[in-house]
Amino acid sequence: MVFYLLARYNKFMEKKKLISIVVPMYNESEGLHNFLEVLFSNLNQIKNYDFEVVVVNDGSKDDTYEKLKQEQNNYPQIVLVNLSRNFGHECAVSAGLNTALGDAVIPMDADLQDPPELISKLIEKFEEGYDVVNAKRSSRKDDTSFKRNTASMFYKIIGKWSNKVKISENVGHFRLMSRRVVDQVIALNDYVKVLRVEVPYVGFKTTEVEFVRAPRNAGKTHYNLKSMTDLALDSIISTTPQPLKFIKGFAIGFTLITLLSLISQIIMFTLHLCSVISIDTVYMLIWLVINILLLIGSFILVSLGIMAEYEARIFMEAQKRPFYIIESVIRK
Ligand code: UDP
Ligand code: MG
Repeated sequence: MVFYLLARYNKFMEKKKLISIVVPMYNESEGLHNFLEVLFSNLNQIKNYDFEVVVVNDGSKDDTYEKLKQEQNNYPQIVLVNLSRNFGHECAVSAGLNTALGDAVIPMDADLQDPPELISKLIEKFEEGYDVVNAKRSSRKDDTSFKRNTASMFYKIIGKWSNKVKISENVGHFRLMSRRVVDQVIALNDYVKVLRVEVPYVGFKTTEVEFVRAPRNAGKTHYNLKSMTDLALDSIISTTPQPLKFIKGFAIGFTLITLLSLISQIIMFTLHLCSVISIDTVYMLIWLVINILLLIGSFILVSLGIMAEYEARIFMEAQKRPFYIIESVIRK
């Protein structure tokens, strides 16, 4: 009986795990109430966990902030982070990750495009021992064919260039990260934040859960062609110095062409001098000018190539990323 009571008492005193949901919001006044209602009705169904919802107001120009302050009365689990201006989606999520205290953290969009119903599945996988549970879009059939094609091209390029880091296709911000993954992502301290490449860089045991992405519940997307191109460039440039290496390829190709042209001119000129063939001097002079230009071009490209190699290393240095991350150390 005593043991039973003790066991019950221990169970009672056992601290529940805290899950932090991180939601960046920029001008989401219109759909905010509905979003919180759906989110909390889902969270309330998940027993045995405590939740905090870290909402980051990313310098909204509408009354998102005022509405959030009111909502805090209905939902005390809301932690309201207010940024001093609009920093952009990635930075807002970052601010949320830095504030979140949870044993696991789930960033998600505020427009119900990332379905709150999936949260329980993400937590299930977390309990199975995964440190990262990616929510992967099962299809992009609602996207325009332009967006589909550019997205697939982007993942192909980054997949090829990211070396040993595996960047999952069609995974955005919506994912669960364990505390140790969040801490490592924060420690990366990259100036250019791109969560979808930082999380795979950190590694740890990862799995995926598929979902269908719904259309926005209210308002309109904040992404346009320019911001998507910027994101793609940021992702590639913060992942790899590979584009800099292109210059080396160009330099080698260009120098080879120059050498070929020079050697053939010398041969032709010698043959001409030995009266084996006769070539018009005007042609010879034009060819000589072309060769000199090719030579100058090669010289510039080779110099650029050398500088790019140095720059590539400076880039790696400037990022100050750790060379390795230890998952665990067992001593007996
Ligand atoms: N967002 C933000 N700052 C910005 C732009 C967007 O915090 O400068 C938030 C926005 O409120 C939403 C999420 O980032 O919660 C994703 O934005 P959006 O839905 O416009 O992106 P899409 O789903 O179209 O890719
Ligand atoms: Mg959206």
